Amino acid sequence: MNQHAQKIRVRFAPSPTGHLHIGGVRTALFNYLYARQMGGTYCLRIEDTDKERSTNANMQEILSALEWLGLSPDETPVIQSEHSQEHLEAADQLLREGKAYRCFCTKEGLEADKIKAESEKRAYRYSGRCRELSENEIQAKLDTGLPYTVRFRIPEGITRFKDMVYKDIAVNNEEIDDFIILRSDGSPIYQLSVVVDDANMNITHVIRGEDHLSNTPKQILLYLALGKKVPKFGHLPLILAQDGKRLSKRHGASSVDEFKEMGFLPEGLLNGLALLGWGDNMPKPIFSLDELIKRFDFARVNKKGAIFDPDKLAWINGQHLSRSEAKDMWPFVKPLWQNAGWIDPGFSDEDGIRYTDLLKSRIRLLNEFVLYGKYLFKDPLTFDMKAIDKHLQSPDIKKYISILSTSFQSLKSSSAEEMEAKLREVADMHEIKASMLIHPLRIAVTGFGVSPDIFKICEILGLETVIRRLNLLKIFLV
Ligand code: GLU
Repeated sequence: MNQHAQKIRVRFAPSPTGHLHIGGVRTALFNYLYARQMGGTYCLRIEDTDKERSTNANMQEILSALEWLGLSPDETPVIQSEHSQEHLEAADQLLREGKAYRCFCTKEGLEADKIKAESEKRAYRYSGRCRELSENEIQAKLDTGLPYTVRFRIPEGITRFKDMVYKDIAVNNEEIDDFIILRSDGSPIYQLSVVVDDANMNITHVIRGEDHLSNTPKQILLYLALGKKVPKFGHLPLILAQDGKRLSKRHGASSVDEFKEMGFLPEGLLNGLALLGWGDNMPKPIFSLDELIKRFDFARVNKKGAIFDPDKLAWINGQHLSRSEAKDMWPFVKPLWQNAGWIDPGFSDEDGIRYTDLLKSRIRLLNEFVLYGKYLFKDPLTFDMKAIDKHLQSPDIKKYISILSTSFQSLKSSSAEEMEAKLREVADMHEIKASMLIHPLRIAVTGFGVSPDIFKICEILGLETVIRRLNLLKIFLV
């Protein structure tokens, strides 16, 4: 780490106007990874200046979601509304220096301009009516108590910056309207607050969603006008759903809480999101957060919209689950099975860990411990019809099931080894492949066509249950 790098400061700046969505998590994560890689500081700022839509509950939810993900900030979060004085002082400075001006145009007047522009099929621009008012004119209007907004006076020229993802961007300032920085009630607008806060927090790199790309030239002009150092910018590509449209609620789960509820592990969710726009085609894309810190490469983030694939995310999560230790997962699994009514609070941890260990290789989401764990406690009431169609089509299938169940009755214990040896012996005796018996055994015992080691499952259940389930399948196959 060089001396320079130590000064890097980034921030995640969510607005507490709703749940924390995965787009926001991706932004937080990329900031976090960049800060960790550069030995920098990762900050959080809650942008709560939209009083109508911001709530304390949303803020708490964002903080706890970040904590669950392991993305809590390095410093106490900054609450934007607590800094409005600084925003107002900045507006004042710009007014004093003639870099901003009071605009007395009424809402109705501006609206009429917009309608006119529309009818003439041209893009609406602020008319500039109040741009060159004289001191006297301004004073006269102020004296009559006319309300006003404050607009930023866009200077002539071209605004250029090198985005960390979108590379060289140049915008002719003529394309930028004199935008409002203070509303008529005196409250500051996002563009101003964000610049003042980032400058005061000494943010060196602004890493955020691509939807803010068009704000950046405006913000750069504000930095320059305020005499502040312009940070570097990195805009992350949009996250798209599989239909190519911007990912939204109608595409399914989108908030962190929903993903948690579905049984995602923080590391699975983060791993999946880290790949978006960066490692989409990696052959072995499974990384812990520490590995991501080592591997993540901002230079490889591409600007093409990143397609979000929930199935791939679930698969990635499954890889993390199978890498985790059963003893670490058991505390999550236990309440699921308790809520399902299959175990009571006194259920042995030793058995719980053993069952978890057995199931975890097949599971993609924690909640699947309910779906796939059920057969450890309850006889299946339904059977996977696809598996039956595929594997149980022999005309002798019921005969084989009977033979297997009868031969199991002669066993002395329920050990996996004994059951497997018996099954293979029966298969040899009848000159059939062992799979002719393993498939019906699996379907009978679990209801599914795939499962973890079926003999280990049988050992847990005990001979009596296995035989009962074989007989139930036979009845079902009538
Ligand atoms: N508060 C803004 C948002 O939630 C982010 C602003 C920024 O990152 O500059 O979209």
